[in-house]
Amino acid sequence: MQYNELRWHPLLEEWIIVASGREKRPWRPKGFCPFCPGTEETGYGWDVLSLDNRFPALVKNPKVSRKSISIYKVRKGYGYCRVIVETPQHEGDLCDLSVGQLKKVIDEFIKEYVQLGSDPKIKCVMEFRNKGEEIGVSLTHPHSQIYALPFIPSRIKRELKAAKKFMKKYKKCIFCHILELEKNEGVRVVYENKSFTAFVPFFAMWPFEVHIYPIRHFEAINKMTEEEKIDLARALKVITYAYNKLFDRSMPYMMVFHQAPTDGKNYDYYHFHIEFYPILRSKDKLKYAAGIEWGAGTFTYDGLPEERAEMLRKIVNSLPHSFLEQS
Ligand code: ZN
Ligand code: ZN
Ligand code: FE
Repeated sequence: MQYNELRWHPLLEEWIIVASGREKRPWRPKGFCPFCPGTEETGYGWDVLSLDNRFPALVKNPKVSRKSISIYKVRKGYGYCRVIVETPQHEGDLCDLSVGQLKKVIDEFIKEYVQLGSDPKIKCVMEFRNKGEEIGVSLTHPHSQIYALPFIPSRIKRELKAAKKFMKKYKKCIFCHILELEKNEGVRVVYENKSFTAFVPFFAMWPFEVHIYPIRHFEAINKMTEEEKIDLARALKVITYAYNKLFDRSMPYMMVFHQAPTDGKNYDYYHFHIEFYPILRSKDKLKYAAGIEWGAGTFTYDGLPEERAEMLRKIVNSLPHSFLEQS
């Protein structure tokens, strides 16, 4: 039997997605890639493709395994799990795509955000990219994922709360203010163009964490102009290139879009941004969310964010102009 349900964590006050029947999902099936052109799911004649995840944690017709009892609350695991196949090419990272191709990927992210978000039961559309075996990615074909959730997840809730509080007190967006602080200091900025700034935040938790903020204030990706999409494509290309160049090996990372929930409320105090959490601290050492990080929720950062930003910035500054040419 397949069950898709949400279970409430009464102590952390957040939902856990519980799905049975997913444990059997394939780990790097030999000799067959479901995302390459010409399979049953993909067909031919596309540059970018979005598909349903074949092993979804959330579904349209969820069944729950049990009833709620007291603070042990159970809800239906309603939602969508989708995959964006970013290129017909079987290998590579975002930096291997042309700016033009990356713009198509961004347009697909926008389309999915709007479409899935228009379902009245969907409260938040999370778009993200996991890359690397160390992060548990079972397929190497370049792809991102989407979880359209029937609730606002706790991390987004915390950011919204902080942004709302700051707005109330200072009549100003907290993200715009962070951007100002980062630009004024400059030491943690890794890359900038007309529409976006990429930086290792003052408050970085992962060794080479980078956030990409649009310079103009808007709350979700569907508000981007064509020019901004191209500039975002450039920023994504530069940052992923720098990551892979850093230790001359493919960098495992998570990339997460933070944007306004889609529950119909007003979120104009929120500011769209992208967060990268790369998990290497050196060529062959992983940074774990270990006892203190996971058990206490307190991250330790070995070294200084400013030093790490400089390492990345050096790589970015050495890039030839031709790297970011469109087409
Ligand atoms: Zn493939
Ligand atoms: Zn802002
Ligand atoms: Fe964020």
